Amino acid sequence: MKKFMAYCLISVALLSCTTLDTTRPTEAKVKNVIMIIGDGMGPQQVGLLLSYARQAPHGVIANRATALDRMMDPGRLGISMTYTANTLVTDSASSATQLATGKFAGAEMLGLDKDGNTQEKIIEKARRLGKATGLVSDTRITHATPAAFAAHQTYRSQENNIPEDLLATEVDVLLSGGLGYWIPEQASDKKSLIHQQLVQATGNSVEIKSSRKDTKNLLTIAQQKGYTLAFNNEQLQQANGKTLGLFANSGMQNGIIETQFKNDTKRVQPTLKDMSAQALKILARNERGFFLMIEAGQIDWASHRNDTGLLLHEMLRFNDTLNTVLDWAANRQDTLIIVTADHETGGFGFSYSAENIPKPHKLPGGAFADGTLFQPNFNFGNPEVLDKLYAQRLSYRDIFAQFDALPKQQQTPLKLAELVNRYTEFKITEVQAVKILATENNPFYKAGHVSLGEKTVSKMEVNGQFFVNQKENRENLLAQAVASSQQAVWATGAHTSTPVYVFVSGPERTMRPFAKILHHTQLGQLAIDALH
Ligand code: MG
Ligand code: ZN
Repeated sequence: MKKFMAYCLISVALLSCTTLDTTRPTEAKVKNVIMIIGDGMGPQQVGLLLSYARQAPHGVIANRATALDRMMDPGRLGISMTYTANTLVTDSASSATQLATGKFAGAEMLGLDKDGNTQEKIIEKARRLGKATGLVSDTRITHATPAAFAAHQTYRSQENNIPEDLLATEVDVLLSGGLGYWIPEQASDKKSLIHQQLVQATGNSVEIKSSRKDTKNLLTIAQQKGYTLAFNNEQLQQANGKTLGLFANSGMQNGIIETQFKNDTKRVQPTLKDMSAQALKILARNERGFFLMIEAGQIDWASHRNDTGLLLHEMLRFNDTLNTVLDWAANRQDTLIIVTADHETGGFGFSYSAENIPKPHKLPGGAFADGTLFQPNFNFGNPEVLDKLYAQRLSYRDIFAQFDALPKQQQTPLKLAELVNRYTEFKITEVQAVKILATENNPFYKAGHVSLGEKTVSKMEVNGQFFVNQKENRENLLAQAVASSQQAVWATGAHTSTPVYVFVSGPERTMRPFAKILHHTQLGQLAIDALH
């Protein structure tokens, strides 16, 4: 040690003691880091996007090449384990905390390590380095993934406290949904002054309904801290400094609706791509660079509900967004882009079955020259399924919302089948609808009108205890009803431990450490270390 110090002292006098100098930029460090998190985007969800791109007979992806294909041309691939301290499976809060801090977290924690200590997050390091910072999500800004990058809370459910944390961290650009958590309780009263003021400020583009349990108005505090507020796409396009954009009362629109409106120039709610492009434009003005996290957060929501058609549209929304980021970064040597997931959701996959086995047919090859017909033993799935998934016009959640809005006596199995068959290409029968609705709370079940020659079964028998999020698991049961026609299976209504992909692009030396089998704490630390 003494010898080493002596060497340093001499070399300081001559040149500099490079061994101790950790602030000197190296090629492994970059000016900008963009982290894109597909929430719930395991290899299975990426696989759906790739199957669609490569195989859909009428696919909408140009040249059958996804943004991931484009990224991986010069890019590198790693995989990463997502578990938290002492658990097999993770949730979005702890997983994003691990990415943001490089430290193990406990389940459902935000910005804390496994023991509950506050940890510095990549956003705070970026700020220390004088960089700009941003969080963009198509869920809501107080939701687990964005919150983990700027809040310190024992549980993700403490959403009332998160706006103040986001403001205290002074993230420059915050774009998402979730206005309800920023406005005081009394704003829900349509006759209140604050309600009327908010209707005016938002240009009537967001529903005004408070999710808070107090009288705090965090929008006013944001303005005092120098934030410009934006509530619709037009206001977003004009924003050019510190910006708080809240474009929905709670979660933003889903991927199916976004597909329907993304090319409408008068769209009120911005797309994930719109928000990402504007965030890049604002943050890139900082000469020292920036850190930006973009979340495609509803991949997870579609997967919890086992809604395969919606999942495809969520993956297309992710794809559009990544293309925009790649366009921005094209030919830059100062930016590292990391695309990963916090975990896989649903245990999705296409699978082969013994139903509807295709008819035997002739093949031209020599092996069939004797006239024998080709017929495999199983149905390995027809790529036409991919076009049918794309053709879904309403999410399962919205279908059930329409169903629930009907007068009680009209909420029959027949009516549910009609709705599903109107908005999706995978038809169900009345008997299947009976099973989907078979619960103790359903009046038809209680009245014994549901037999239709079929024995009704309890939800637990059908689904087990891994379907924990949706009301009565109806959407998961609908997924099971269409499984054989979609050729799609779902293992759970929750998250799985499947390792996730890590796609990186940037300068060669910066990418290299990511191309291995990592844990998310290591992945987070690599991202933190890359910033200088
Ligand atoms: Mg999320
Ligand atoms: Zn989830």
